[in-house]
Amino acid sequence: MSVVVVRGAVAVVEDSARVRTGDVVIADGRVVDSADLTGARVVDASGCVVTPGLVNAHHHLLQTAFRTLPGTRGIPMRDWLPAMAAAYADAVVDPELTLLAARAGLAEALLSGVTTVADHHLTWPSGADTVGIARGAATAASDLGARVAFVRGAARDDPQEAAISAEAIVSALVPDGVGGVSADGMLQIAVGPAGVHSDPRETFALLGEVARRHGLRRRTQANEVVDVEIALERYGRRPLDLLEEWGWLGPDVTLAHLCDVTPDEIARLAASGVTATHAPGCDVPMGWGVAPVRRLLDAGIPVGLGTSGGGSNDAGHLLADARLAMQVSALVGPQLPASEVLTMATAGSADGLGRSDLGRLTPGSAGDLCLWDVSGVADAGVADPVAGLLWASPGRRPRSVLVAGRVVVDEGRLVTADEGEIVARLFERVAR
Ligand SMILES: [Zn+2]
Repeated sequence: MSVVVVRGAVAVVEDSARVRTGDVVIADGRVVDSADLTGARVVDASGCVVTPGLVNAHHHLLQTAFRTLPGTRGIPMRDWLPAMAAAYADAVVDPELTLLAARAGLAEALLSGVTTVADHHLTWPSGADTVGIARGAATAASDLGARVAFVRGAARDDPQEAAISAEAIVSALVPDGVGGVSADGMLQIAVGPAGVHSDPRETFALLGEVARRHGLRRRTQANEVVDVEIALERYGRRPLDLLEEWGWLGPDVTLAHLCDVTPDEIARLAASGVTATHAPGCDVPMGWGVAPVRRLLDAGIPVGLGTSGGGSNDAGHLLADARLAMQVSALVGPQLPASEVLTMATAGSADGLGRSDLGRLTPGSAGDLCLWDVSGVADAGVADPVAGLLWASPGRRPRSVLVAGRVVVDEGRLVTADEGEIVARLFERVAR
């Protein structure tokens, strides 16, 4: 049995209900109450707060290759979508680009404390090797030691082709998976059209059938501003009315964004058992507004946190967006406490993926955790070191990160790959 002991932390955030001190013991990749520590690897956490590995509930890893693209900032989404589409077409989205973008995005994730990324992949050129594209993201994750939930998305794809591709991806990548999750829990497959603004009822129906057949989670985006506008124009209905009618509001569905929701819609979402993902690092710069997270939570809707993609956010630093979420929450209601936002970025996101094994450090949970050094000047004078994780030291990065008990970031450096090589290969590919 391989045993790791994380020892000497200032505080251990076990889950939203419990912050403690003492050891965290991981045996064969899982948190345990105790184990025989003879020969165990000891990780020194003195001066650090230990949290569960962060879970990014909504990212578009491909967009890592298209950050700060000229002509994509400060414009309405109606113009942003074709600008990004033109960039994808120029670059030719194929398995190689997907792999290299995912390597960069997932390395960035680990280096900022994110151990699981839900990658909503929306770009599937006609005739592309779609299994190869999905395998690109999966390979990047397994090479780096990160967990990925790859979402076979769609954005104006042919509905039949999207469903056939989703089926092929499940068969190729998680043939023995339960609920689309590999036996080791490192890879998960889910499905989800980009939204009612881009995809017709048939795509939702056919991808929904694949999900039902394999027990996959379903994910989509709803009620950013343009989504509401287009739904009203095209169908004379609001997006959530359509999703409800199309069978896409349920406990297995997670909706990202939800900036523009009415009190009646919040009540209907809560009744349906749906989960939500807040993505202020995208919503704010895109001018979509601030999702009413306090009201969603108060209605009983589990809320996770996501960065959304590099095309709008330019970063996959979830803790930075947790800080932003906390700050902007005061514009639309009572301010969210740091502890609650940290829960969103861990257990909240994990619950939306159907993964009660992730995002907490209770016995039986996955051994995914971060050591955040709070001994420096940026944390001097901080009374509550857990709240300080979000309030103080913007852009902080963890000293060490473990995934399934394996050290993947040590002293702030990636252990599993060469960071410089990842950067160089992505730049070389996009310049080609
Ligand atoms: Zn998004």
